[in-house]
Amino acid sequence: MNTLYNASLPSPCWLLNEEKLQTNLNTLAYIKEKTNAKILLALKGYALWKSFPMLSPILDGCCASGIHEAQLASETFQKEVHTYAPAFKEDEIEEIATLSHHIVFNSPDQFHHFAKKVKSYNPNISLGLRINPEYSESPKEIYNPCGLYSRLGTTLANFDETLLDTCDGLHFHALCEQGANALEMVLEHFEKKFGQYIKKMKWINFGGGHHITRKGYDVEKLIRIINHFKDKYSVQVYLEPGEAVAWETGTLVSTVLDIVDNGMQIAILDTSAEAHMPDTIIMPYRAEVRGAGKAGEKPHTYRLAGNTCLAGDIMGDYSFDTPLNIGDQIIFEDQMHYTMVKATTFNGIKLPSIAIEKKDGTVEIIRQFGYEAFKSRLS
Ligand SMILES: *Cc1c(COP(=O)(O)O)cnc(C)c1O
Repeated sequence: MNTLYNASLPSPCWLLNEEKLQTNLNTLAYIKEKTNAKILLALKGYALWKSFPMLSPILDGCCASGIHEAQLASETFQKEVHTYAPAFKEDEIEEIATLSHHIVFNSPDQFHHFAKKVKSYNPNISLGLRINPEYSESPKEIYNPCGLYSRLGTTLANFDETLLDTCDGLHFHALCEQGANALEMVLEHFEKKFGQYIKKMKWINFGGGHHITRKGYDVEKLIRIINHFKDKYSVQVYLEPGEAVAWETGTLVSTVLDIVDNGMQIAILDTSAEAHMPDTIIMPYRAEVRGAGKAGEKPHTYRLAGNTCLAGDIMGDYSFDTPLNIGDQIIFEDQMHYTMVKATTFNGIKLPSIAIEKKDGTVEIIRQFGYEAFKSRLS
């Protein structure tokens, strides 16, 4: 049986590697040191909060997308909480205001509707507006916040100067897995459109989507861009990456349950693309599998597929040096971001356990899910 981790590791299991997380954090710490920019973790992409004691000494807080993420940030990270939502709800605004240090509104209407109320609940809160720079090089339309008819952020045409008296900052989020060149272009459009307002602000939030920890990302260029911007406008710059924090920091370990043949060999795993790694279907992207190549590259090719009744629950076709056997481990690489935050119990499939591989090499299983996780959400 081909197993890299010992039999006591549950399957399926998300396995965070602390050493790799530390490497990413060191890069982010370096950027902070060189720029005085503040860097927040976007909880939307990564929220394995048992690992936050490693993050909170370095990062400045969390970017939350609503009441639950704000609550989680406040309880588990205990630094700055910045909350943005496409729209806030009347019955949640008091709690959000109380929990948050910054609140970012999506439209001038929401800004005007909630600004006074929010200040009355939390006089120290800083108010911001998300703008739409109407420029993005986003590789996929579903991830393009500046696309046609986008609801995300206020365009210059809809900007309302009457909010300038109480607005402390502007926020944009226009990148998706992109480099410093794309940020430079977005900034150029942002400045062309909103430049007249920037000097009036205390802070500008450059959003997420900066692929900072990816090999080949031009960290020095990012540093130059931030420092140039900061010198030009005298504002505090914020970044709020999600993916870059957790990029290549862990795996999804699964097990081959059966192998069937219908025109090709198909390995049925105890995990699911649909339920546990949905971006492989939505984006779509092909997850790397440890020790495997593209179909046909190595002698033994298999389709890897999930254990649900969805025909399209397929991770892709992969080839291996030796035949797969029932009980073999299949290890999907880079599965820490946009996986467990999106996972479902679709079809009653068990949620993967969560484990942490510590810096000393020991593995701690921190969470296992059973029938309750499935049942409790359904009625
Ligand atoms: C998704 C999102 C982020 C994080 O994006 P990453 O691509 O994970 O870095 C940051 N800010 C906002 C407003 C977002 O919607």
